Amino acid sequence: MAGEREQEERDRVINWDPELRNMPREVRNVIAPTPLKGTDAMQFRCHPGISCFNECCQNIEILLTPYDLLRLRRRLNLSAEEFLLQYATLYTMNKGQLPVAMLRMDEQSGRCPFVTDAGCSVYSDRPVTCRYYPLGMALLHRQQATEDESFYFMIKEDFCQGHREECRWQVEEWRRDQGSDGYDERNQKWMEFIIKRRSAGDGVSTSLPVSEFFYMASTNPEKFREFVFQSSFLQRYHVDEAQLQQLRTDDEALIDFALSWLKSVLFGDQDVRVKPDAIAAYKANKQAKKAQEEKKSE
Ligand code: SF4
Ligand code: SF4
Repeated sequence: MAGEREQEERDRVINWDPELRNMPREVRNVIAPTPLKGTDAMQFRCHPGISCFNECCQNIEILLTPYDLLRLRRRLNLSAEEFLLQYATLYTMNKGQLPVAMLRMDEQSGRCPFVTDAGCSVYSDRPVTCRYYPLGMALLHRQQATEDESFYFMIKEDFCQGHREECRWQVEEWRRDQGSDGYDERNQKWMEFIIKRRSAGDGVSTSLPVSEFFYMASTNPEKFREFVFQSSFLQRYHVDEAQLQQLRTDDEALIDFALSWLKSVLFGDQDVRVKPDAIAAYKANKQAKKAQEEKKSE
């Protein structure tokens, strides 16, 4: 009976977030059925002497956020394309609308490419998913609410002995200790875009290849920079001089700008505005085309 109740509770938590529902059963089954707030208590400790050391660094799905990718690439001194080729696979969220990069595990062993006997070889630049573990974060969309709420959940896998260690935290303390806060801030615009795209459902037009631009912005700022500076983008969109200078060299600023632009295109936000003369040129062009078609049909 207690087991049934626990399963019902677990299903309730999982049903709140569409991405959790899409996760494989073995992942869903290890989600503890209690949503957590930042001030809630948790018990956990991980250290190199623990019997399960490195067990969690294999057969896992690690989504790479834009800031994860920047940190790892800088650490390994690789271009975006080199990193993606060597270490990433493509995964699509939201019924195929949002392509994202996942860390590619070794095909034979299922191990993370960065794990060594001494632990994580990129520890100070490890992805935010690794920093959160054993916590996960999910989104709750209440009907008629304008914004989604986020909550944490605990992942309790049998092999992980860290839950048995006598060490207590508040969820927020754990996240701070693992250095996830800076990552969350850096990834904020990206998360906001995903949440807004998901909440908008199928009603939002995707006439622009939003998915491709989203993937480019998330994974390859060099390529997005080429698009901004080497296409007609700057003839069409207003970007002030100071921001333009920043976008030439600052990858983090470029990613934020790209996501603001996508939000403007997709949801009509006003962060990146079309130039008035570009609108006038567009209207004139449209009228000229219409006139041409009318002439042809006479
Ligand atoms: S305690 Fe858990 S997180 Fe730490 S090494 Fe063991 S399995 Fe991984
Ligand atoms: S990046 Fe580091 S912490 Fe994360 S799975 Fe790989 S080895 Fe483990």
